Amino acid sequence: MVPDAMRFDTLAIHAGQEPDPTTGAIMTPVYLTSTYVQAGPGEHKGYEYSRTKNPTRTALEGCLAALEGARFGAAFASGCAATDTLIHLLDSGDHVICSDDVYGGTFRLFDKVFKRLGLSFSFVDLSKPGTLEATLTPRTRMVWVETPTNPTLKLVDLTRVGEICRARKILSVCDNTFLSPYFQRPLEHGIDVVLHSTTKYINGHSDTVGGFVATSNEELAQRIYFLQNAVGGVPSAMDSFLVLRGVKTLGVRMARHEQNAMKVAEFLSGHAKAGHVVYPGLASHPQHALARKQMKGFGGMLTFEIQGGLPAARKFLKAVKVFACAESLGGVESLIEHPAIMTHASVPPETRAALGISDGFIRLSVGIEDVQDLIDDLAQALAQA
Ligand SMILES: *Cc1c(COP(=O)(O)O)cnc(C)c1O
Repeated sequence: MVPDAMRFDTLAIHAGQEPDPTTGAIMTPVYLTSTYVQAGPGEHKGYEYSRTKNPTRTALEGCLAALEGARFGAAFASGCAATDTLIHLLDSGDHVICSDDVYGGTFRLFDKVFKRLGLSFSFVDLSKPGTLEATLTPRTRMVWVETPTNPTLKLVDLTRVGEICRARKILSVCDNTFLSPYFQRPLEHGIDVVLHSTTKYINGHSDTVGGFVATSNEELAQRIYFLQNAVGGVPSAMDSFLVLRGVKTLGVRMARHEQNAMKVAEFLSGHAKAGHVVYPGLASHPQHALARKQMKGFGGMLTFEIQGGLPAARKFLKAVKVFACAESLGGVESLIEHPAIMTHASVPPETRAALGISDGFIRLSVGIEDVQDLIDDLAQALAQA
């Protein structure tokens, strides 16, 4: 076992992983098995059935927990399965306070699935000081934050949220998908639980869908493991292996994502057809100071508004050649999308308008290609829009 004192890039490659005891294989084997032979009833080696526990998944959980600085981790078949499992910690009648421009699928799960089961949700702008306190009710049991938010890249002060929740014994959850533990470690700011869609930066190669949850609270971890097994939204051994393989390069990828995103943000800021460029790394970001305080880097996501609204946006998105017009984010390849039509179509139009997701609003996931090719591509596509 690699000691926790090791640094991030070492943990990404080694934590949770031992050479295979039977062969010495350096890579964690893909344990494609559903069951495990017991010497006698109840006499097993820690593995009984693969929904409950699988060695490839165990390695992944150990590695990702180490990266978040957490004592415990649980992997899931998708980010949404991880979210679903955390909400099962609650009881009917409980109230959840959630970031207003939360990931579209999270909003849909809360609003269309769990509301029917007797939970209530308040979607509010947690980037504004005082909003959280004003929204608390005696039934509030969970606060769900995303920072930076998706897609408007607002920031939430994690230390503040942690303090307010701890004082009232409310569970705080941070969806850390947009930054990855390389740039932000919410548990260090007093947040109880971190959640990831590993589909994005953690795996980083756009070849699998997965989720992850981490905490250092042992009692909470035991409840999460119970639910992970009871609800059953677990990843396959093959998917666990792919994420474990992808995460080894997380540090080098994130550094490059950030470097490229900064240059793209600067290019767009100087372009006549691109207005309102939002990137936490720009001094013009309204919460740039908070970004510097709670993040170790600014990530690879940015947004801007194209002049000319929907017709211009359509032309522009058809004209890009290196950027792929696609949903999702966080892979090595650059993606570009139109939230109002694509990722945030499930958010009601009036809510989108209130959030500032206009018809000219465009979101970029800046990949790790040569940044000059990315800038050239945006320049030629803007010229056609
Ligand atoms: C993608 C995403 C999710 C959901 O994860 P899936 O793996 O697609 O189920 C949750 N939160 C954020 C911020 C995401 O980007």
